[in-house]
Parts: sequence; structure tokens; C-alpha cells
Amino acid sequence: MLIVMDLNAPREDIEKIKLKIKQLNCTPHEIPGASKLAIGITGPTHNLKQEDFSLMPSVEDVVRVTKKYKLVSRMMKSEDTIIDFGNKSIGGNRLQIIAGPCSVESRDQIFEIAEILKNMGINFLRAGAYKPRSSPYSFQGLKEEGLKYLEEVKKEFDLKIVTELLNQHTVDAVAAVADIIQIGARNMQNFTLLEEAGKTQKPVLLKRGMSATVEDLLLSAEYIISQNDYNIILCERGIRTFETATRNTLDLNAVPVLKKETHLPVFVDPSHGVGIWDKIPPMALASIAAGADGLMIEVHQRPGEALSDGYQALDPKRFKSLLEKIKELAPIVGKELV
Ligand code: PEP
Ligand code: MN
Repeated sequence: MLIVMDLNAPREDIEKIKLKIKQLNCTPHEIPGASKLAIGITGPTHNLKQEDFSLMPSVEDVVRVTKKYKLVSRMMKSEDTIIDFGNKSIGGNRLQIIAGPCSVESRDQIFEIAEILKNMGINFLRAGAYKPRSSPYSFQGLKEEGLKYLEEVKKEFDLKIVTELLNQHTVDAVAAVADIIQIGARNMQNFTLLEEAGKTQKPVLLKRGMSATVEDLLLSAEYIISQNDYNIILCERGIRTFETATRNTLDLNAVPVLKKETHLPVFVDPSHGVGIWDKIPPMALASIAAGADGLMIEVHQRPGEALSDGYQALDPKRFKSLLEKIKELAPIVGKELV
């Protein structure tokens, strides 16, 4: 349920409503950044009646939110959520590119690629310190050592760091370094981890599980937002289908569906979506044409030597040429690449 209040409602009227919601065993959420003043209600709302609130002072409207997901839905908040990183914000009409290697492999490797990307105007560096690998014998990441290098590289090049949180034991360590905590496809429905990520109050990039529906993705985001963390980026990264020509099937349908259903920014990761480097530029451009707010792309200085996902990494030259095409495309879809 959503209570729409008079924009000039005094604080005491808002507090009265919140108290009443709590007395009815539900949870009130003041919806941030909305041009209208609204209080969302979650919990056993089937016990609530519109009349419980409609006659209270400063209440303009009481709306029942019929979707399974509540706080992430456009019904609760119609305006796009913009995640504020100063002049590097994500969402709205800004297009942002998160780029970097799959993994942190060494201090030299991450410094070298960070410098290259910074010089191309990239603001967000991705790289995993903890890697979720299908095989236990594959490179598992440098772990704490990797986080240390990310901390150093962040300071050296003034980059925002996007890195994956794999489990509850490393929440504090990852949150201390990450500007955006990545929750990977394999953990999309690790609900305890989602709550832990939300509790940090850091921006979270939530990747779609490889067998998850769009509704599953939105319900997972609801776990994070219910911790009062509204800074969530949803990321389409390909799903499993019968098709074997590519690593996954990039579901670009999800982009316009998500953009309609939720106020959260929507990114696409074509690297994991197709898994083969030469298919990444066309699918990156297609993602933007479909309405994505940004891209996450794996870039490695020497893809042939990468310790993970080298076959889907662009080298700097190819990435630069993709960036030039993105710059041309962005204004056509009403976006600005900054
Ligand atoms: C990654 O971004 O390197 C990664 C492991 O992604 P996903 O969780 O989408 O497989
Ligand atoms: Mn990867």
C-alpha cells in the first residue's frame, strides 16, 4: 500500500501515519527522492483498509500496490532512482560504463588496466577479488590481497570500485573498499546475503541469476531495498537457454520490462551475456538501444593471459572503439555519456 501525502505535510502528520502503520503490525517506508511525498507500507497489508488512512490529516490518496514487489516498483516511486556519486551519478539520463578485468590478478595487472581505463574517461572500475568459479580448481581470486590492491588503485586513480561480495564473512572487508557491492548471478537468491548487503547502505549491483525470471530479480532487489537501501542497480547478464552458440542468452527483453516495472537503474553485462569477445560490441550497442542505463564490460590488457574469462574480455583498443560508438549512439536514445 502507498500513502500519498500533501507535499507540505507537517512532520507530525507524517509521524502519526507511521505510528498507525506500526500499530497495525506493518512497516512504513518514507520513499526518498520522490517529487510527491509518499509513505510505502510493507508487511501484512491485506489486513489494512484504505479507510484506515484516507481520512487522516495531509493524506491525498491511498493506493493498493498489487505487484508482489513493492518498494522497487514504479507504483511506489514513479521517478527514476539516481545513485549519486557526485558528478559520476548512475541512472536518469546519464549513461555509465563499468569496465575492468574479471579478476584482480596482481598489483601490476590492476594498476596497468586502471590507468588505461581512467585515461579513456572511465569512472567505475570492476574487478573481482573473490571469484565464484564453476570449478573449484579454477583461479578463485586473490581475496584479501585483491581487496588491498583495489583500495590502492582506487586512491591512485580516483576510480569508483565495483567488486563482488561472495559471502557473509567478508561483508565488512568488501564494503570497506567497494563503492558498489556486486552480488553475482549465483548469489542472486542468497537472501541472507542480500539483506547483509542492504544493511551496509552501500550501492549494490545485483546481477540476474542465470535461471531467474525478471520477477525473481525484482523480488531479490526487494530484500535489499527493505533494508532501506535504495541504491540498487539491476544487471541483466544473460540466462541459460537451449542455445549453445553463446555462453548465455542475453535477454534484452528484460531491459524495457524492467524499465517499466521499476524505478531502479538497469545495466547490461554483455560480456557474461554472450561470453565471446567479438559479440560484445554489437550486444553492448543493442543494450543501449533497448534503454539500458549503463553497461558492465570486461576489459583486460592482454585477454590471452587473463586468469578468468579471458575469451570474453575486450582488449583496450577494441574497448576504445566500442566507447566511440557508444558516444555516437547515446544522444540518439536521449542519454549522455559522461
Ligand atoms: C563477474 O562479473 O565476473 C561474474 C562472476 O558475473 P556473474 O555473477 O554474472 O556470472
Ligand atoms: Mn567474469
